[in-house]
Amino acid sequence: MGETTKIAWTDHTFNCWWGCQRVSLGCENCYAESFAKRYGTAWGPSADRRFFPDKHWNEPRKWNRLAEAARVRKRVFCASMADVFEARSDLDSQRERLWKLISETPWLDWLLLTKRPQNIKLMLPDGLDRKNIWLGTTAENQENADKRIPLLLSNRAAKLFVSYEPALGPVDFSPWLEEGRQPPGEPRTGNLFGTTTSCSPSSEGGTHGSERDTQRDGEVERVGSQRDSTSALSGREASTDRRGVRDLRQDGFEDRTRRPLGISWLIIGGESGPKARPFDLAWGRSTIAQCKAANVPVFFKQAGALPIDSERYLGTFAPEDKRSIAAAKALGCDDNPPNLVLLWHPKGGDLSELPPEFNVREFPNQRTVR
Ligand code: SF4
Repeated sequence: MGETTKIAWTDHTFNCWWGCQRVSLGCENCYAESFAKRYGTAWGPSADRRFFPDKHWNEPRKWNRLAEAARVRKRVFCASMADVFEARSDLDSQRERLWKLISETPWLDWLLLTKRPQNIKLMLPDGLDRKNIWLGTTAENQENADKRIPLLLSNRAAKLFVSYEPALGPVDFSPWLEEGRQPPGEPRTGNLFGTTTSCSPSSEGGTHGSERDTQRDGEVERVGSQRDSTSALSGREASTDRRGVRDLRQDGFEDRTRRPLGISWLIIGGESGPKARPFDLAWGRSTIAQCKAANVPVFFKQAGALPIDSERYLGTFAPEDKRSIAAAKALGCDDNPPNLVLLWHPKGGDLSELPPEFNVREFPNQRTVR
C-alpha cells in the first residue's frame, strides 16, 4: 500500500502481499477483501496472493532515511491487506524478505497485527532483533480475547498491543493489562461494564449470536456464541477467574518468578462501512476505564458507523431511523431499539462529536524490548 495512510494510529502502512482468508467474526466485513476485489485481486484459501516488485519493497527504506534525518521514529502498520502470520508456504519467502527489511530499517517501528497469534512463535525468527517490532492481535469479543491475548503475551517484542476493532461485544481486558493483571487464580471483583441493559449488543438472539464454524488455515475454528452484557456480566467473575488460571498456566506463567507481562497498548474502534455492526459506547467507556486504572495507553480510534449507547441517553434516539432499526435487528431487540448515537462523521472518528471521555488517543512511549 501507499506511503501515507488514513489510519489514525500509524504513520505508514506496508503490505508484503495482498490476500488473506477469513478467521473469525471480526473478518465478516473485511474491508481489505472488498478493496482487493475492486482491484481484481482474488481472496480466500484457494486464491493466489498478490506479490509486489522491488520498488514497493524499497519504500520503507525511504521512510527510514527520512525518519533518521528528522530523528523521529515512525510507525508502520503491516499489513492492512493481509495477515503477516497466515500459514501458507508460498508466503515464507515474502516473510523472510520482511524480516530482512525490518532489520534494515531501525528508525521504523513495525506494527505486526494478526488474528493468528498462534503462528508467531513458528514464523518470527528467534534471532531477529525485536527492538523495532510491535506485535499485536485483534480481540473483537471476549471469546477471541480469551483465545488470542495469552498467545500474544507469550512473545517477546518492543510492544505487545491489542486491537479491539471491530469491537463486537463487551470485553474484560483487565487480566492482561500491565498493571491490572492478577496473579493466577485470584478472583476479580467489581462491575467493570457499568450499567447493563436488558437488550444490549451481542445478545444471543442477534445476528451474530449463534455458533457457527469458519475455516481457518485449513482447520475448523469454532466462533460465535457471544453473550449479552447481562450474561457476560453475571458469568464474568467465573470466566475471568477461569481464564486467569487456565491461560496463564498453559503459558507456564505461574512458574515464572517475575510478574507476567501484559498488554502495553490498546486500540478501540467500532466497525465502519455499509454493513457495520453496532458498537456500544458503554464497551468503549469500560475499556478506557480499564486501561486508565492499569495505566496502560489507550487509543480510541472511532465509534464506527453504527454507534449506540446503552448507558446514556445522548439526545439522539431515533427509533424510526433505518440505522436504528438495523441496530435493533443485529442486537435481537426489535421491541426495544437501542439508543442510537447519530454522528456526522461516517466512521464516528471525529472525537469532538463524542462525549469527552472518548477523547483519548495515547501511544506507548517507552522503547524497551521484553
Ligand atoms: S484476518 Fe484481517 S485481512 Fe484477513 S480476512 Fe480477516 S480481517 Fe481480512
